[in-house]
This record gives sequence, structure tokens and C-alpha cells, in this order.
Amino acid sequence: MQRITILGATGSIGVSTLDVLARHPERYSVHALSAHSRVDELAAQCVQFRPARAVVGTADAAERLGALLRAAGVATEVDYGEAALCAIASAPEVDSVMAAIVGAAGLAPTLAAARAGKKVLLANKEALVMSGQLFIDAAAEAGAVLLPIDSEHNAIFQCLPSSYGRAPDSSGVAKILLTASGGPFLTRAVETLEDVTPEQACKHPNWSMGRKISVDSATMMNKGLEVIEAHWLFGAPADRIDVVIHPQSVIHSMVSYVDGSVLAQLGNPDMRTPIAHALAYPERIDSGVAQLDLTQVATLQFERPDFARFPCLALAFDALRAGGTAPALLNAANEVAVQAFLDLKIGFRQIDRVIAQVMDALPHGAADSIEAVMAQDALARAAADSIVAGMAK
Ligand code: NAD
Ligand code: MG
Repeated sequence: MQRITILGATGSIGVSTLDVLARHPERYSVHALSAHSRVDELAAQCVQFRPARAVVGTADAAERLGALLRAAGVATEVDYGEAALCAIASAPEVDSVMAAIVGAAGLAPTLAAARAGKKVLLANKEALVMSGQLFIDAAAEAGAVLLPIDSEHNAIFQCLPSSYGRAPDSSGVAKILLTASGGPFLTRAVETLEDVTPEQACKHPNWSMGRKISVDSATMMNKGLEVIEAHWLFGAPADRIDVVIHPQSVIHSMVSYVDGSVLAQLGNPDMRTPIAHALAYPERIDSGVAQLDLTQVATLQFERPDFARFPCLALAFDALRAGGTAPALLNAANEVAVQAFLDLKIGFRQIDRVIAQVMDALPHGAADSIEAVMAQDALARAAADSIVAGMAK
């Protein structure tokens, strides 16, 4: 029986994870669930899955959750705040942690899981983008197993040889080919991007996801963050990672080898596939996802990304090449800019301008401690806030 904590249980990934777990009650039990503010949803999940502990964002939310659970006769212990998140991520009773909080808020608990040597199912790409080598080193030191949930990285993981990383010279890996759908604005006239609404940006053609990652997909910052994520997960330099636009999202990514072979992982676009893969690894379990019917898909298309249409992708490559705390600055500026766009404070095309201005204004430093990374994160947020405040929409 694998005992699991889900950080971000009420989100898109959290809900898909519980869907897979519910199909295999003999294999998995839920130790703890967390949510930020959606108390009613979390209460319903506690009634169904009976975790020992549940964590929310504030004392007020904890009080409301406690009352709902008492009324339902559920004995889940309720707590709140970051220290409680770190506690459920590192508890000795836990085998695996699904890290599915969105954004920098997930860094501390995800790192706590890695430091405690857990099997870490990593959806929260922002945590790895911010902390990079520090995170990889912490996981290695504690013997934590990192399994990618991001569909592209999970695909790459499946296409790499099992010897990869141990004998990189003989593995023959030439390039990582990271596929990208291109999001909802792949073919929209560039001059009309100024006017798109949050609803249009969040309407992804193939995936149903949280609002932040949906906007990131529309700007392609999501792919930029994923390039940085691939760099850290697979030890690949920026020039060995190619982004390929593939609008159907059927191939989830590929690895090309020196002998000319290209291995790809395919499937219907449903996050329950990578979630089930990582949960059961190295075994395979049913995920609830229908088998892929290639005759239904019929056509697979590919094209190069247009960096002028998607400046965020170029900004992310720049940050990866700059190194140090540059990716943490990029991530923080992006989180502020995306929230400002969702709050109707800035337009869609102002997202990349906010990030570029923050990257120009702030020098990056060495990412030699989590404290240094968090200090840069705070500086970038303050700079981005003031740039947003000065922008007329
Ligand atoms: P979501 O917005 O649907 O859910 C986010 C979860 O995090 C919720 O449970 C919320 O309660 C919690 N949360 C939000 N702010 C928090 C805070 N300040 N403190 C603590 N908890 C907080 O997001 P999602 O789409 O499920 O994405 C989660 C993560 O997985 C992101 O990092 C995203 O990039 C990554 N990811 C998602 C998908 C997808 O298909 N949704 C695919 C690949 C990667
Ligand atoms: Mg992805």
C-alpha cells in the first residue's frame, strides 16, 4: 500500500490524481490533502478519501473546514499554513507526494518532500524552475525519486534509456524534442493579441487546466518554463532542447538519438496518463484514459515556434542561458504579470513586457541557497508590481 500526500488536491492535477487513486484502492491510500481556499471541495474530498490530515491556507479556512468535517463525522485533523504543508509533505507515514500546488507557493513543501527522501511526483514546475540545482541536489542527497508529471517530461522520461544519466556518453541521446500545442493563439493575427480576454486565453484547444498554466500556455511561457524544467530534470543544456509545435498534442515529446532514431510517447491528451505512470512506476496501471485511436487522429502536424509571436519563449531561453537566479526572476515576474492579466489590470501583450522589464532592471545573482532564491523572487515581485501599476491598460 502506497501512502500519498497530495499538495494542491483541489486543482486540476489534484482532482485527476484522486480520480486515478480511486480506481486502485488496494494499491493507494491518501495520507493528506491540501487546498488553498476551496474549502467545500476539500471537505468533499476528505469525506470520500478519509485522509489523516488536511491543510488549508488560513486559520479562517481551517475553522470552516473543521466545522464541515465534524458535521460529516470525518476525523481528519485540520491545519493551515506553510509549515503544515511541509509537515504533510515530509511525514514519516508518507511514501509519495504529488506536488501539484501552482507557482512559487509550492516550493517549500515540494522541497520538504525531496529533503525527506520521498517519491516526488512533480507537477509544480515553478518550484524546480526557481530552485534548479539546489532542488536536484537536495533530492539526490536524500535519495528522493523525482518522477515528472508534466506530460512532456513524463514522455521524455519514458523515451530515455534506463542507463541515461549513469553513462551519458554511451546513452546516445542527441536532443530532447519538447512538443508544444501552441495554445489558443497559434494562428490568431498577432496584432489582435492586444485585445484577447482572460476567458479566451484560458480556453486551451486540447487540455483542461488551471487558469495560471492556461495563460502560460497561451503566451508559451509554459513551454519556456518546461525548457528550464527539462534542463534540470535531464541535465540537458539549452542547445540540446528543441521546441516543436505540434497542435494535436498527441505526441507528448520525443528524444532523438545519434543513430537517427527518434522515440516518441503518444496518447490522448489527459493528465491521468502521466499521473498513473508516475504513481505506479515501474509498473503500469489503468488510468481511466481511453486508448489512442490513431485513425481518428489521422493527421499529426509539426512546425517551428515563432519567437516573435511568443516572446515569452525567448525570455525563458535567455533566463536559462543566463543561469543563477535568472529563472527565479523570470518565474516571479511571470506569476505577477499573469495574475495582473487575469485581474484585468494589464493586457495580454503586456505580460511579456512586464517580464522583459523586470529581467532588464534586476541583475541576477548566484542561486547558492534557497534564501537567495526567495530574496530574488521577492525583489522581482516588487519590481513587477510597480511596473504593472505604471502600465495603462
Ligand atoms: P490549479 O490552479 O487547478 O490548482 C492549484 C492548486 O494549488 C489548488 O489545489 C490550490 O488550492 C493550490 N494553491 C493555489 N495557490 C496556493 C497557495 N498560495 N498555497 C497553497 N496552495 C495553493 O492548477 P493546476 O492546473 O492543477 O496546476 C498545478 C501545477 O501543475 C502547476 O505548477 C502547473 O504548472 C502544473 N501542471 C499542470 C498541468 C495541468 O494539466 N493542469 C499540466 C502540467 C503541469
Ligand atoms: Mg506540460
